[in-house]
Amino acid sequence: MHRTCPNCSRKSIPVTSLILTRAFCPTCGSLIGVRRLYALLFFVVTFAVTAASCIAILAQQGFYAALIWLPLPIGALGYIKARFCPLQVRSGPLDDAGPH
Ligand SMILES: [Zn+2]
Repeated sequence: MHRTCPNCSRKSIPVTSLILTRAFCPTCGSLIGVRRLYALLFFVVTFAVTAASCIAILAQQGFYAALIWLPLPIGALGYIKARFCPLQVRSGPLDDAGPH
């Protein structure tokens, strides 16, 4: 599964690398990420869903069940974010050293 690069318009951005972090386009070398607004929105939603569900499972099933559950909402929401959110060029290949 690949997303279209906003810089060179090739379907070259692997969805899996966008789930947790930004991805380099292998064609043009740009650093591609989800738009900041969406990244922030999903961070808040993921945090809220993960915290709420973990507390619920912790109370009902105990610590280890919550520990096993933990990656599931993070992974599922991260996948939705990586698959459907608009992408933007975060920086070119040359100015990656600067602050973002
Ligand atoms: Zn590209």
